[in-house]
Amino acid sequence: MNVPELTISQLRAAYDAGDVTPTDALDALAAEIDAKDGDIGGYLEHDLELAKKEAENADLSLPLGGVPIAIKDLINVAGQNCRCASKMLEGYHSPYDATVIKNLRAAGAIPFGRTNMDEFAMGSSNENSGIQICRNPHDTDRIPGGSSGGSAAVVAANTAIAALGSDTGGSIRQPASHCGIVGLKPTYGRVSRYGLVAFASSLDQIGPMTKTVEDSALLMNALAGPDPLDSTCLDETAPDYTAGLDGGVKGLKIGLPKEYFAEGISPDVEAKVRAAIAKLESQGAEIVDISLPNTEYAVATYYIIATAEASANLSRFDGVRYGHRADISEIENADEAELITHYKRSRAEGFGPEVTRRILLGTYVLSSGYRDQYYARAQKVRTLIRQDFIDAYEKVDLIASPVSPTPAFKIGEKNSDPLSMYLADIYTISTNLAGVCGISVPCGTVSESSSDLPVGLQLLGKPLGEAELLQAAHAYEVG
Ligand code: GLN
Repeated sequence: MNVPELTISQLRAAYDAGDVTPTDALDALAAEIDAKDGDIGGYLEHDLELAKKEAENADLSLPLGGVPIAIKDLINVAGQNCRCASKMLEGYHSPYDATVIKNLRAAGAIPFGRTNMDEFAMGSSNENSGIQICRNPHDTDRIPGGSSGGSAAVVAANTAIAALGSDTGGSIRQPASHCGIVGLKPTYGRVSRYGLVAFASSLDQIGPMTKTVEDSALLMNALAGPDPLDSTCLDETAPDYTAGLDGGVKGLKIGLPKEYFAEGISPDVEAKVRAAIAKLESQGAEIVDISLPNTEYAVATYYIIATAEASANLSRFDGVRYGHRADISEIENADEAELITHYKRSRAEGFGPEVTRRILLGTYVLSSGYRDQYYARAQKVRTLIRQDFIDAYEKVDLIASPVSPTPAFKIGEKNSDPLSMYLADIYTISTNLAGVCGISVPCGTVSESSSDLPVGLQLLGKPLGEAELLQAAHAYEVG
Protein backbone atom coordinates (compact mmCIF):
# COMPACT_ATOMS: atom_id res chain seq x y z
CA MET A 1 0.00 0.00 0.00
CA ASN A 2 1.33 3.42 -1.00
CA VAL A 3 0.02 5.66 1.80
CA PRO A 4 0.41 9.06 0.04
CA GLU A 5 -1.94 7.88 -2.71
CA LEU A 6 -4.74 7.08 -0.28
CA THR A 7 -7.92 9.09 0.18
CA ILE A 8 -9.07 10.09 3.65
CA SER A 9 -11.54 7.23 3.80
CA GLN A 10 -8.95 4.70 2.60
CA LEU A 11 -6.40 5.93 5.13
CA ARG A 12 -9.01 5.68 7.89
CA ALA A 13 -9.76 2.10 6.80
CA ALA A 14 -6.02 1.28 6.84
CA TYR A 15 -5.75 2.65 10.39
CA ASP A 16 -8.81 0.67 11.48
CA ALA A 17 -7.38 -2.54 9.98
CA GLY A 18 -4.11 -1.89 11.84
CA ASP A 19 -2.13 -1.83 8.56
CA VAL A 20 -0.68 1.63 9.13
CA THR A 21 -0.26 4.03 12.05
CA PRO A 22 -0.51 7.83 11.82
CA THR A 23 3.25 8.01 12.43
CA ASP A 24 3.89 5.68 9.46
CA ALA A 25 1.58 7.79 7.34
CA LEU A 26 3.48 10.96 8.18
CA ASP A 27 6.83 9.30 7.46
CA ALA A 28 5.55 8.08 4.11
CA LEU A 29 4.19 11.52 3.21
CA ALA A 30 7.41 13.26 4.24
CA ALA A 31 9.44 10.85 2.08
CA GLU A 32 7.12 11.53 -0.86
CA ILE A 33 7.42 15.29 -0.34
CA ASP A 34 11.22 14.99 -0.29
CA ALA A 35 11.14 12.94 -3.50
CA LYS A 36 8.64 14.99 -5.49
CA ASP A 37 8.01 18.44 -4.15
CA GLY A 38 11.30 19.92 -5.36
CA ASP A 39 9.84 19.78 -8.90
CA ILE A 40 6.39 21.01 -7.88
CA GLY A 41 6.91 23.62 -5.15
CA GLY A 42 3.54 22.91 -3.54
CA TYR A 43 4.78 23.19 0.05
CA LEU A 44 6.36 26.24 1.60
CA GLU A 45 7.35 24.19 4.63
CA HIS A 46 6.37 21.24 6.80
CA ASP A 47 7.39 20.17 10.28
CA LEU A 48 7.50 16.38 10.47
CA GLU A 49 8.65 16.16 14.10
CA LEU A 50 5.86 18.42 15.36
CA ALA A 51 3.23 16.48 13.39
CA LYS A 52 4.60 13.18 14.67
CA LYS A 53 4.21 14.35 18.25
CA GLU A 54 0.56 15.00 17.52
CA ALA A 55 0.28 11.67 15.72
CA GLU A 56 1.43 9.80 18.81
CA ASN A 57 -1.68 10.99 20.65
CA ALA A 58 -4.05 10.62 17.70
CA ASP A 59 -7.49 9.41 18.72
CA LEU A 60 -8.42 6.88 16.05
CA SER A 61 -12.01 6.70 17.27
CA LEU A 62 -12.61 10.20 15.86
CA PRO A 63 -13.84 10.61 12.24
CA LEU A 64 -10.57 12.14 10.99
CA GLY A 65 -8.38 10.54 13.66
CA GLY A 66 -4.71 10.66 12.63
CA VAL A 67 -5.40 12.09 9.14
CA PRO A 68 -2.78 14.67 8.03
CA ILE A 69 -4.26 17.70 6.26
CA ALA A 70 -2.13 20.24 4.35
CA ILE A 71 -3.03 23.86 5.12
CA LYS A 72 -2.98 26.86 2.78
CA ASP A 73 -0.51 29.41 4.08
CA LEU A 74 -3.18 31.96 5.04
CA ILE A 75 -4.89 29.91 7.77
CA ASN A 76 -3.48 30.33 11.27
CA VAL A 77 -2.13 27.25 13.05
CA ALA A 78 -0.80 28.05 16.53
CA GLY A 79 2.99 28.27 16.66
CA GLN A 80 3.47 27.83 12.91
CA ASN A 81 4.47 30.36 10.27
CA CYS A 82 1.58 32.01 8.44
CA ARG A 83 3.09 34.02 5.61
CA CYS A 84 0.33 34.12 2.99
CA ALA A 85 3.27 33.42 0.65
CA SER A 86 4.32 37.04 1.17
CA LYS A 87 7.59 38.62 2.22
CA MET A 88 5.41 41.00 4.23
CA LEU A 89 4.71 38.27 6.78
CA GLU A 90 8.19 36.82 7.04
CA GLY A 91 8.86 35.70 10.58
CA TYR A 92 5.21 35.91 11.68
CA HIS A 93 4.10 33.03 13.89
CA SER A 94 0.42 32.46 14.55
CA PRO A 95 -0.46 32.91 18.21
CA TYR A 96 -3.68 30.88 17.87
CA ASP A 97 -5.54 28.24 15.85
CA ALA A 98 -8.14 29.33 13.29
CA THR A 99 -11.58 27.91 14.04
CA VAL A 100 -11.27 25.48 11.10
CA ILE A 101 -8.03 24.17 12.63
CA LYS A 102 -9.70 23.78 16.02
CA ASN A 103 -12.53 21.94 14.29
CA LEU A 104 -10.13 19.69 12.38
CA ARG A 105 -8.25 18.90 15.57
CA ALA A 106 -11.53 18.16 17.38
CA ALA A 107 -12.25 15.60 14.63
CA GLY A 108 -8.78 14.09 15.16
CA ALA A 109 -6.95 15.49 12.11
CA ILE A 110 -3.33 16.69 12.13
CA PRO A 111 -2.43 19.93 10.30
CA PHE A 112 0.71 19.02 8.32
CA GLY A 113 2.49 21.40 5.99
CA ARG A 114 1.90 24.92 4.71
CA THR A 115 0.94 25.09 1.04
CA ASN A 116 2.04 27.59 -1.55
CA MET A 117 -0.38 30.20 -2.90
CA ASP A 118 -0.62 33.49 -4.71
CA GLU A 119 0.48 36.21 -2.30
CA PHE A 120 -2.47 37.09 -0.04
CA ALA A 121 -4.64 34.86 -2.30
CA MET A 122 -4.54 37.34 -5.18
CA GLY A 123 -4.15 35.48 -8.44
CA SER A 124 -5.26 32.62 -10.64
CA SER A 125 -1.96 30.92 -11.40
CA ASN A 126 0.18 30.85 -8.25
CA GLU A 127 2.73 32.93 -10.17
CA ASN A 128 2.17 35.74 -7.64
CA SER A 129 3.65 33.73 -4.77
CA GLY A 130 6.24 35.89 -3.03
CA ILE A 131 8.18 32.79 -1.99
CA GLN A 132 8.47 30.27 -4.83
CA ILE A 133 6.93 29.10 -8.06
CA CYS A 134 4.40 26.25 -8.00
CA ARG A 135 3.97 23.87 -10.91
CA ASN A 136 1.14 21.69 -12.16
CA PRO A 137 1.95 18.01 -11.46
CA HIS A 138 0.34 17.04 -14.80
CA ASP A 139 2.79 19.25 -16.73
CA THR A 140 5.44 21.12 -14.81
CA ASP A 141 5.69 23.82 -17.50
CA ARG A 142 2.15 24.84 -16.59
CA ILE A 143 0.48 26.67 -13.74
CA PRO A 144 -1.47 24.70 -11.11
CA GLY A 145 -4.09 27.48 -10.95
CA GLY A 146 -4.57 29.82 -8.04
CA SER A 147 -4.70 31.13 -5.59
CA SER A 148 -4.80 27.76 -3.74
CA GLY A 149 -2.34 26.33 -6.28
CA GLY A 150 -0.13 24.65 -3.69
CA SER A 151 -3.06 22.87 -2.03
CA ALA A 152 -4.30 21.58 -5.40
CA ALA A 153 -0.82 20.55 -6.55
CA VAL A 154 0.06 18.57 -3.41
CA VAL A 155 -3.23 16.66 -3.45
CA ALA A 156 -2.85 15.93 -7.19
CA ALA A 157 0.81 14.90 -6.79
CA ASN A 158 -0.09 12.55 -3.91
CA THR A 159 2.17 14.43 -1.53
CA ALA A 160 -0.88 15.12 0.65
CA ILE A 161 -3.97 13.12 1.59
CA ALA A 162 -6.15 16.25 1.43
CA ALA A 163 -5.80 20.01 1.94
CA LEU A 164 -7.62 23.18 2.91
CA GLY A 165 -7.90 26.08 0.50
CA SER A 166 -9.76 29.37 0.40
CA ASP A 167 -11.98 30.78 -2.33
CA THR A 168 -12.71 34.47 -2.82
CA GLY A 169 -13.37 34.38 -6.56
CA GLY A 170 -12.58 30.79 -7.52
CA SER A 171 -9.36 30.00 -5.69
CA ILE A 172 -10.46 26.53 -4.59
CA ARG A 173 -12.40 25.47 -7.68
CA GLN A 174 -10.08 26.75 -10.43
CA PRO A 175 -6.85 25.11 -9.17
CA ALA A 176 -8.84 21.95 -8.36
CA SER A 177 -10.02 21.93 -11.97
CA HIS A 178 -6.52 22.49 -13.39
CA CYS A 179 -4.98 19.80 -11.18
CA GLY A 180 -7.76 17.20 -11.52
CA ILE A 181 -8.97 17.07 -7.92
CA VAL A 182 -12.21 17.94 -6.09
CA GLY A 183 -12.57 21.45 -4.62
CA LEU A 184 -15.60 22.77 -2.73
CA LYS A 185 -16.39 26.42 -1.98
CA PRO A 186 -19.04 26.42 0.75
CA THR A 187 -21.89 28.93 1.02
CA TYR A 188 -20.75 32.24 2.50
CA GLY A 189 -21.10 31.85 6.27
CA ARG A 190 -21.15 28.03 6.29
CA VAL A 191 -17.52 27.76 7.47
CA SER A 192 -15.94 30.14 9.98
CA ARG A 193 -13.40 32.66 8.69
CA TYR A 194 -11.92 33.27 12.14
CA GLY A 195 -8.16 32.87 11.75
CA LEU A 196 -8.23 33.12 7.95
CA VAL A 197 -6.11 36.10 6.88
CA ALA A 198 -8.72 38.28 5.16
CA PHE A 199 -8.47 39.21 1.48
CA ALA A 200 -12.05 40.31 0.71
CA SER A 201 -14.13 39.61 3.78
CA SER A 202 -17.54 39.56 2.10
CA LEU A 203 -16.37 36.91 -0.41
CA ASP A 204 -13.78 34.69 1.35
CA GLN A 205 -14.64 31.10 2.35
CA ILE A 206 -12.44 28.19 3.43
CA GLY A 207 -13.13 24.80 1.90
CA PRO A 208 -11.81 21.26 1.31
CA MET A 209 -9.53 20.20 -1.58
CA THR A 210 -9.58 16.42 -1.87
CA LYS A 211 -9.09 13.37 -4.08
CA THR A 212 -12.76 12.38 -3.96
CA VAL A 213 -16.19 13.88 -3.32
CA GLU A 214 -16.62 11.54 -0.34
CA ASP A 215 -13.48 13.06 1.24
CA SER A 216 -14.89 16.52 0.63
CA ALA A 217 -18.02 15.52 2.58
CA LEU A 218 -15.89 14.03 5.37
CA LEU A 219 -13.93 17.28 5.72
CA MET A 220 -17.08 19.42 5.54
CA ASN A 221 -18.46 17.45 8.50
CA ALA A 222 -15.56 18.79 10.54
CA LEU A 223 -15.33 22.29 9.04
CA ALA A 224 -18.93 23.52 8.84
CA GLY A 225 -20.98 24.99 11.65
CA PRO A 226 -21.60 28.11 13.72
CA ASP A 227 -18.78 30.06 15.36
CA PRO A 228 -19.28 32.81 17.95
CA LEU A 229 -15.87 34.20 16.93
CA ASP A 230 -17.06 35.03 13.38
CA SER A 231 -20.21 37.15 13.26
CA THR A 232 -20.71 36.33 9.56
CA CYS A 233 -20.75 32.59 10.26
CA LEU A 234 -24.33 31.33 10.11
CA ASP A 235 -25.94 30.20 13.31
CA GLU A 236 -27.14 26.92 11.88
CA THR A 237 -25.73 23.51 12.69
CA ALA A 238 -24.41 21.54 9.75
CA PRO A 239 -25.97 18.27 8.55
CA ASP A 240 -23.99 15.03 8.10
CA TYR A 241 -22.70 15.57 4.57
CA THR A 242 -21.91 11.89 4.04
CA ALA A 243 -25.45 10.71 4.88
CA GLY A 244 -27.06 11.41 1.49
CA LEU A 245 -24.04 10.89 -0.74
CA ASP A 246 -25.51 7.83 -2.45
CA GLY A 247 -28.85 9.48 -3.20
CA GLY A 248 -28.15 9.94 -6.93
CA VAL A 249 -29.46 12.67 -9.22
CA LYS A 250 -32.79 11.22 -10.32
CA GLY A 251 -35.34 14.00 -10.59
CA LEU A 252 -32.83 16.79 -9.89
CA LYS A 253 -33.17 19.76 -12.20
CA ILE A 254 -29.81 21.03 -13.40
CA GLY A 255 -29.65 24.40 -15.17
CA LEU A 256 -27.15 25.27 -17.92
CA PRO A 257 -26.61 29.04 -18.01
CA LYS A 258 -26.24 30.10 -21.63
CA GLU A 259 -23.78 32.84 -20.64
CA TYR A 260 -21.36 30.17 -19.35
CA PHE A 261 -21.18 28.36 -22.68
CA ALA A 262 -20.54 31.43 -24.81
CA GLU A 263 -17.63 32.80 -26.75
CA GLY A 264 -14.16 32.42 -25.27
CA ILE A 265 -14.44 28.86 -24.00
CA SER A 266 -12.03 26.30 -25.47
CA PRO A 267 -13.99 23.85 -27.65
CA ASP A 268 -12.22 20.88 -26.03
CA VAL A 269 -13.13 22.05 -22.52
CA GLU A 270 -16.72 22.65 -23.60
CA ALA A 271 -16.93 19.14 -25.09
CA LYS A 272 -15.75 17.55 -21.83
CA VAL A 273 -18.16 19.59 -19.72
CA ARG A 274 -21.08 18.82 -22.05
CA ALA A 275 -20.22 15.12 -21.92
CA ALA A 276 -20.26 15.28 -18.11
CA ILE A 277 -23.67 16.94 -18.20
CA ALA A 278 -24.93 14.25 -20.58
CA LYS A 279 -23.78 11.66 -18.06
CA LEU A 280 -25.77 13.37 -15.30
CA GLU A 281 -28.77 13.37 -17.62
CA SER A 282 -28.34 9.65 -18.28
CA GLN A 283 -28.31 9.15 -14.51
CA GLY A 284 -31.76 10.72 -14.27
CA ALA A 285 -31.18 14.47 -13.91
CA GLU A 286 -33.33 16.82 -15.93
CA ILE A 287 -31.27 19.39 -17.86
CA VAL A 288 -32.83 22.83 -18.27
CA ASP A 289 -31.53 25.87 -20.17
CA ILE A 290 -31.34 28.95 -17.98
CA SER A 291 -29.89 32.45 -18.06
CA LEU A 292 -27.80 34.40 -15.56
CA PRO A 293 -28.15 37.67 -17.46
CA ASN A 294 -25.75 39.83 -15.45
CA THR A 295 -22.78 37.48 -15.88
CA GLU A 296 -21.01 39.91 -18.22
CA TYR A 297 -20.61 42.40 -15.35
CA ALA A 298 -19.21 39.89 -12.87
CA VAL A 299 -15.49 40.33 -13.55
CA ALA A 300 -15.65 44.14 -13.30
CA THR A 301 -17.87 44.01 -10.21
CA TYR A 302 -15.62 41.50 -8.48
CA TYR A 303 -12.41 43.39 -9.18
CA ILE A 304 -13.92 46.55 -7.68
CA ILE A 305 -15.40 44.97 -4.54
CA ALA A 306 -12.53 42.56 -3.88
CA THR A 307 -9.84 45.23 -4.30
CA ALA A 308 -11.78 47.74 -2.17
CA GLU A 309 -12.03 45.23 0.67
CA ALA A 310 -8.42 44.16 0.20
CA SER A 311 -7.15 47.73 0.43
CA ALA A 312 -8.85 48.07 3.81
CA ASN A 313 -7.88 44.59 5.07
CA LEU A 314 -4.23 44.90 4.09
CA SER A 315 -3.80 48.30 5.75
CA ARG A 316 -2.96 46.42 8.96
CA PHE A 317 0.37 45.34 7.47
CA ASP A 318 2.23 48.51 8.34
CA GLY A 319 5.62 47.22 9.47
CA VAL A 320 4.72 47.85 13.11
CA ARG A 321 2.36 45.12 14.17
CA TYR A 322 3.19 42.19 11.90
CA GLY A 323 5.97 40.78 9.81
CA HIS A 324 8.37 42.72 7.66
CA ARG A 325 9.77 45.96 9.05
CA ALA A 326 11.89 48.30 6.93
CA ASP A 327 15.20 49.47 8.31
CA ILE A 328 15.06 53.26 8.66
CA SER A 329 17.95 53.60 11.06
CA GLU A 330 19.56 56.25 8.84
CA ILE A 331 16.68 58.67 9.56
CA GLU A 332 17.51 60.69 12.62
CA ASN A 333 14.47 62.43 14.00
CA ALA A 334 11.68 60.40 15.53
CA ASP A 335 8.94 62.55 14.07
CA GLU A 336 5.84 62.02 12.03
CA ALA A 337 7.76 62.01 8.73
CA GLU A 338 9.83 59.16 10.01
CA LEU A 339 6.73 57.14 10.84
CA ILE A 340 5.22 57.69 7.40
CA THR A 341 8.50 56.74 5.73
CA HIS A 342 8.58 53.65 7.86
CA TYR A 343 5.08 52.60 6.76
CA LYS A 344 5.79 53.34 3.12
CA ARG A 345 9.09 51.52 2.98
CA SER A 346 7.86 48.49 4.89
CA ARG A 347 4.88 48.14 2.57
CA ALA A 348 6.85 48.82 -0.62
CA GLU A 349 9.45 46.22 0.34
CA GLY A 350 7.00 43.65 1.69
CA PHE A 351 4.22 43.49 -0.94
CA GLY A 352 4.70 42.06 -4.43
CA PRO A 353 3.48 43.77 -7.63
CA GLU A 354 -0.01 42.21 -7.86
CA VAL A 355 -0.84 42.95 -4.22
CA THR A 356 0.39 46.52 -4.69
CA ARG A 357 -1.75 46.87 -7.81
CA ARG A 358 -4.83 45.68 -5.94
CA ILE A 359 -4.25 47.97 -2.97
CA LEU A 360 -3.91 50.92 -5.35
CA LEU A 361 -7.03 49.93 -7.32
CA GLY A 362 -9.03 49.37 -4.14
CA THR A 363 -7.94 52.66 -2.63
CA TYR A 364 -8.89 54.41 -5.85
CA VAL A 365 -12.41 52.93 -6.09
CA LEU A 366 -13.07 53.95 -2.49
CA SER A 367 -11.58 57.43 -2.76
CA SER A 368 -13.82 60.44 -2.32
CA GLY A 369 -15.27 61.51 -5.64
CA TYR A 370 -15.01 58.02 -7.14
CA ARG A 371 -16.67 55.95 -4.45
CA ASP A 372 -20.21 56.33 -5.81
CA GLN A 373 -19.11 55.87 -9.37
CA TYR A 374 -17.23 52.60 -8.75
CA TYR A 375 -17.71 50.99 -5.36
CA ALA A 376 -21.35 51.93 -4.73
CA ARG A 377 -22.31 51.00 -8.28
CA ALA A 378 -20.50 47.66 -8.03
CA GLN A 379 -22.50 46.89 -4.87
CA LYS A 380 -25.72 47.49 -6.81
CA VAL A 381 -24.60 45.20 -9.63
CA ARG A 382 -23.65 42.60 -7.04
CA THR A 383 -27.28 42.63 -5.88
CA LEU A 384 -28.41 42.04 -9.47
CA ILE A 385 -25.97 39.12 -9.84
CA ARG A 386 -27.24 37.61 -6.61
CA GLN A 387 -30.82 38.06 -7.84
CA ASP A 388 -29.93 36.15 -11.04
CA PHE A 389 -29.10 33.14 -8.87
CA ILE A 390 -32.20 33.50 -6.69
CA ASP A 391 -34.34 33.57 -9.86
CA ALA A 392 -32.48 30.60 -11.36
CA TYR A 393 -32.98 28.50 -8.21
CA GLU A 394 -36.75 29.01 -8.53
CA LYS A 395 -36.48 26.83 -11.64
CA VAL A 396 -33.58 24.47 -10.96
CA ASP A 397 -31.89 22.67 -8.04
CA LEU A 398 -28.32 23.00 -9.30
CA ILE A 399 -26.39 24.82 -12.00
CA ALA A 400 -23.69 23.16 -14.16
CA SER A 401 -20.90 24.85 -16.09
CA PRO A 402 -17.18 24.77 -16.82
CA VAL A 403 -14.85 25.99 -14.05
CA SER A 404 -12.38 27.69 -16.34
CA PRO A 405 -12.57 28.54 -20.05
CA THR A 406 -9.24 26.81 -20.78
CA PRO A 407 -7.09 24.05 -19.27
CA ALA A 408 -3.99 25.08 -17.26
CA PHE A 409 -1.94 27.58 -19.23
CA LYS A 410 1.84 27.80 -19.49
CA ILE A 411 3.86 29.48 -16.76
CA GLY A 412 4.50 33.06 -17.92
CA GLU A 413 1.76 33.02 -20.58
CA LYS A 414 -0.56 35.55 -18.95
CA ASN A 415 1.68 37.03 -16.34
CA SER A 416 2.39 40.26 -18.17
CA ASP A 417 -1.30 40.91 -18.82
CA PRO A 418 -3.30 41.15 -15.56
CA LEU A 419 -6.56 41.72 -17.44
CA SER A 420 -6.38 38.44 -19.35
CA MET A 421 -5.66 36.71 -16.03
CA TYR A 422 -8.71 38.39 -14.44
CA LEU A 423 -10.91 37.31 -17.36
CA ALA A 424 -10.04 33.65 -16.73
CA ASP A 425 -12.14 33.93 -13.53
CA ILE A 426 -15.34 34.50 -15.48
CA TYR A 427 -17.14 31.28 -14.44
CA THR A 428 -16.17 31.25 -10.78
CA ILE A 429 -16.50 34.76 -9.38
CA SER A 430 -20.30 35.16 -9.61
CA THR A 431 -20.63 32.32 -7.10
CA ASN A 432 -18.78 34.39 -4.49
CA LEU A 433 -20.64 37.59 -5.35
CA ALA A 434 -23.93 35.69 -4.89
CA GLY A 435 -22.67 33.84 -1.78
CA VAL A 436 -23.83 30.42 -3.02
CA CYS A 437 -21.83 27.16 -2.91
CA GLY A 438 -19.90 25.48 -5.74
CA ILE A 439 -17.78 22.43 -6.43
CA SER A 440 -15.27 21.44 -9.10
CA VAL A 441 -15.18 17.74 -10.00
CA PRO A 442 -12.72 16.25 -12.51
CA CYS A 443 -14.45 15.40 -15.83
CA GLY A 444 -11.64 14.09 -17.99
CA THR A 445 -8.61 15.53 -19.72
CA VAL A 446 -7.81 17.39 -22.91
CA SER A 447 -4.58 17.03 -24.77
CA GLU A 448 -2.39 20.05 -25.38
CA SER A 449 1.23 20.05 -26.54
CA SER A 450 1.50 16.36 -25.69
CA SER A 451 0.19 16.74 -22.11
CA ASP A 452 -3.10 15.45 -20.80
CA LEU A 453 -4.58 18.33 -18.84
CA PRO A 454 -7.48 17.92 -16.42
CA VAL A 455 -10.82 19.68 -16.91
CA GLY A 456 -13.31 20.41 -14.12
CA LEU A 457 -17.10 20.30 -14.14
CA GLN A 458 -18.52 23.03 -11.93
CA LEU A 459 -21.77 22.42 -10.07
CA LEU A 460 -23.31 25.32 -8.16
CA GLY A 461 -25.83 24.84 -5.36
CA LYS A 462 -28.39 26.86 -3.44
CA PRO A 463 -27.38 28.71 -0.29
CA LEU A 464 -26.60 25.99 2.27
CA GLY A 465 -27.15 23.40 -0.47
CA GLU A 466 -23.80 21.65 0.08
CA ALA A 467 -25.40 18.27 0.83
CA GLU A 468 -27.28 18.27 -2.49
CA LEU A 469 -24.19 19.52 -4.32
CA LEU A 470 -22.01 16.75 -2.87
CA GLN A 471 -24.69 14.17 -3.63
CA ALA A 472 -24.80 15.15 -7.32
CA ALA A 473 -21.00 15.43 -7.59
CA HIS A 474 -20.63 11.99 -5.99
CA ALA A 475 -23.18 10.46 -8.38
CA TYR A 476 -21.21 11.88 -11.31
CA GLU A 477 -17.86 10.77 -9.92
CA VAL A 478 -18.74 7.15 -9.13
CA GLY A 479 -21.40 6.61 -11.80
N1 GLN B 1 -8.37 34.71 -9.11
C1 GLN B 1 -9.15 35.57 -8.28
C2 GLN B 1 -8.34 36.75 -7.83
O1 GLN B 1 -7.25 36.86 -8.27
C3 GLN B 1 -9.68 34.79 -7.10
C4 GLN B 1 -8.73 34.68 -5.99
C5 GLN B 1 -9.31 33.93 -4.82
O2 GLN B 1 -10.35 33.31 -4.90
N2 GLN B 1 -8.64 34.07 -3.69
O3 GLN B 1 -8.77 37.56 -7.07
